[in-house]
Amino acid sequence: MESISLNAYAKINLSIDIIGKRPDGYHDVKMIMQTIALHDKVTLEVRDGGIEIECDKSWIPTGADNIAYKAASLLMKEYNIQKGVCIKIAKNIPVAAGLAGGSTDAAAVLKGMNKLFSLNLGENELMAVGKQVGADVPFCIKGGTVLAEGIGEVLTELDSFSKVDIVLVKPEIGVSTAWVYKNLDLGKISIRPDTPLLIKAISNKDRICVAQNMKNVLESVTIEKHEVIKEIKQELMRLGALGSMMSGSGPSVFGIFEDRAKAEYAYEKLKNNKWDCFLTETLCEER
Ligand code: ATP
Repeated sequence: MESISLNAYAKINLSIDIIGKRPDGYHDVKMIMQTIALHDKVTLEVRDGGIEIECDKSWIPTGADNIAYKAASLLMKEYNIQKGVCIKIAKNIPVAAGLAGGSTDAAAVLKGMNKLFSLNLGENELMAVGKQVGADVPFCIKGGTVLAEGIGEVLTELDSFSKVDIVLVKPEIGVSTAWVYKNLDLGKISIRPDTPLLIKAISNKDRICVAQNMKNVLESVTIEKHEVIKEIKQELMRLGALGSMMSGSGPSVFGIFEDRAKAEYAYEKLKNNKWDCFLTETLCEER
């Protein structure tokens, strides 16, 4: 095999709770992560040596600061791969948006190189390398509907919540995850997600209950600086969403809709607005 192409899917969060801060500076989290259909295309080609990155968006770093580079480099070191790889990224997922756009490219590189170089690594071995690359990478390797704990790397697979209609909106601002965590006051969190309730609603495929009970404790931190997030949430609700919430540390906001037609209606109303807008759906774990 000389080359391989993979879809690298974005994620949204159906809940985020922050349990505490650890001595090493990381936060202990409890969050429900969900793969969505919006994806980058990652193509890997074998070359004689080294790592080369090409991306169709000029603002994405193509050197060692690309997280996909870091993933390839770690795997090559850990498994003594003598050949090199060219990584081509067709970027569709908005950047610095709370959608794990970088982490999912890194996950695709690990999965793709596993096949390209016939490493025959299992999911757990790939996730162990992924954890060293970034906290969201193990989830991106696994995909589907997952409860993430620890710093985000302790994963429990939940029942599938696939084929749920989503409208995703990204305003023209980027939010740094580090900034949001720095400004989070754990003592001030008053409303937390009811995670067991959400897990039950997911099992029952009860999108109304999920939509009405989604909570992200990071939302108020980001909204305090960027009011537009509140505006988008209200707009999605006005256009018929069952519930709307910020994903990750923002600024992307999504709405869950009762069916495709209702999602399409909201998307059509929003798409020529000042914000980037995507009509998408939740996906189950890739087989
Ligand atoms: P998360 O949801 O995991 O917090 P995010 O979606 O908010 O992630 P990314 O899109 O991963 O954030 O981008 C964060 C930063 O990483 C950006 O500043 C970007 O320049 C850099 N970056 C490095 N590699 C990539 C990549 N392959 N794709 C996108 N951004 C990348």
